[in-house]
Amino acid sequence: MLTEEMLREQAGEEIFAKGSAIFHRALVREAKRVRDEQKDEVIYIVSDGERHLVSVSAGQIRCDCGGYPCAHGVAAALMALESGVVQEMEKHLAQLAAPALFQAVASMLPETDGIRLSPALFLTREGLRIGLKIGEDRLYVVRHIPRFLECREKKETLSFGKGFDYHPQWMRFSEKENALLDILAECCENSGAQGLSATDARVMPLPPRAAVRVLESLSGLPFTLQVKGVQYQVQGVKSKTLPLNFLLSGTPQKLTMTAELPENLIPLTKDYRFILADGECLQLPQEEQALVSALHRFSSGRETAVSFSPRTPSA
Ligand SMILES: [Zn+2]
Repeated sequence: MLTEEMLREQAGEEIFAKGSAIFHRALVREAKRVRDEQKDEVIYIVSDGERHLVSVSAGQIRCDCGGYPCAHGVAAALMALESGVVQEMEKHLAQLAAPALFQAVASMLPETDGIRLSPALFLTREGLRIGLKIGEDRLYVVRHIPRFLECREKKETLSFGKGFDYHPQWMRFSEKENALLDILAECCENSGAQGLSATDARVMPLPPRAAVRVLESLSGLPFTLQVKGVQYQVQGVKSKTLPLNFLLSGTPQKLTMTAELPENLIPLTKDYRFILADGECLQLPQEEQALVSALHRFSSGRETAVSFSPRTPSA
C-alpha cells in the first residue's frame, strides 16, 4: 500500500518537499477517474506554472513530464492519499483479486469425499426420467441439471441457497457417481440442453439409449425409483437371472408351459434388459430378456400359461 513514507523514499527529500508544497498550495485537482475490471486509476491535473497530467493507480504513479519521481507526481500522490482514493483503490484491487485468490487456494485444498449424490429415477409413459439431489449432511434438489453439470465441468461454484454451496474445485464425487454424471453431461451436449423447460431441466427425460447407459452405471449406486406413484429405495441395479419356475405339461401334441413370474414385474426398458421385480432392480442376462418379455405379455397375475401345438409336418 502506498504511504507517505514510501513517496518520500522514492522521490528523495528534495523532490518530496517540492511536491508537498505544490499539494499544500492546492494546485492539484482530480480530472478523471477510470475504474473497470482491468484498471483503476485517477488522473490529476497539477498546475504549478506548467500544467501536468499525473496518473495514480494502486501500483504506479506516472507523470506526463516523463520524469517520475517528480514534484508533480508527488503532489498528485499526496492528494490521492489524503482524499482516501488510494485506500479505495487498494480495497477495489483486493475485491478483484479475491476470486482468483480463492481459485488458487481451492485447487490446493485436499479433496473431500463428504459430498453425496442421490439419483432419483421416474418411470413415465414416455420412458425414464432422472432427477438429482446432492449435499453433505442434507440433500438438496438440483433444480437445473444441465447448469449443475456445466459448473462441475468448469469448476464453478453453484449455490443451493442458504444451506449449501457446491464447490467442484474440491468437492469430488465417487468414481461411480462421476461415471453417471459423465453420461448425463453427454446427454445434455447431444440434446442441446439449453432449450429444456424448467421441469425437464430438473427431471430430465432420458432417451432409450441413454436410459440403458444410466441404468448400467447404477450397478453399484443406491437410488430411488418411482413407478406408478410408488417410490422404491433401490440398493443399486443387480445383474441376475430371474428365478422362473417352469412347469411343462400335456402331450407332445399339445404342450402347456406354466411359469411363475415375480409379483409387480415392471420393465424399465422396452427390451426387458432392466426390470423392477419385487422391489428389486435387475439387469437380466440377454438370453432371458426375450423369454421374460414374452411371458410377461401373456401373463395374467402371477401365472403364465402358454400352450404350444407343434405343427405336424405336411406330407
Ligand atoms: Zn512530473
